[in-house]
Amino acid sequence: MDMCNLAGGKVDGDEVSDLTKTYPIVEIFNSVQGEGIHAGKSSIFIRFGGCNLRCEWCDTEFDEWQEMSVIDILSEVMQWQTKRIIFTGGEPALQNLWPLSTCLRRRGYHIAIESNGTIELDEGLVDWVCISPKDQLYPNVSIKQRTGDELKVVYCGQELSMYDDLRIGFKHLLLQPCYMESESVEWNGRNAAHTEALVKENPEWRLSLQTHKWMGVD
Ligand code: SF4
Repeated sequence: MDMCNLAGGKVDGDEVSDLTKTYPIVEIFNSVQGEGIHAGKSSIFIRFGGCNLRCEWCDTEFDEWQEMSVIDILSEVMQWQTKRIIFTGGEPALQNLWPLSTCLRRRGYHIAIESNGTIELDEGLVDWVCISPKDQLYPNVSIKQRTGDELKVVYCGQELSMYDDLRIGFKHLLLQPCYMESESVEWNGRNAAHTEALVKENPEWRLSLQTHKWMGVD
């Protein structure tokens, strides 16, 4: 293998099989995390193609991607200053993330994952687990990943009590108003106000807003 093309060079412990593993990648970009506990931090988003759900409000493109090797991905991410990586999608947990995670960590990256929770994650795979369950839409889809750092619930009118069991496994509870393009401005306004009211009534939950949408950034 030509390691001249590998940004930062080969690092002790790198396995050729890990460096050449490929992933379906929609996009890789540096932006500021817009929502959740880490809102405001410069982060590199690695968006994986494919998802096992089809949420009504989903505004993410995940059906078109290119295959990229770990070497290609490293070359991309190493052009930016931040050491914070976010695996997102689509549903990143559909992939075997160990080769990529291992190579990134060897280079000092902190790795977070945003997942819908329908696939259990291996212990120690990443440094930060954010689960955003979609069971308000898919009551028959069970949440397999029941522990993590951040439980981010997209609120669109469901009962908060449906998370009474799941929330036990998480350190931070976030409630984020769903923005539905198919609904009226009034509906979305009412839903945001209801989310805020719920946080006031249930202070163990924290309001999460999609600030990147206001800012008009990815
Ligand atoms: S789980 Fe996430 S990426 Fe998949 S369809 Fe739902 S909102 Fe979109």
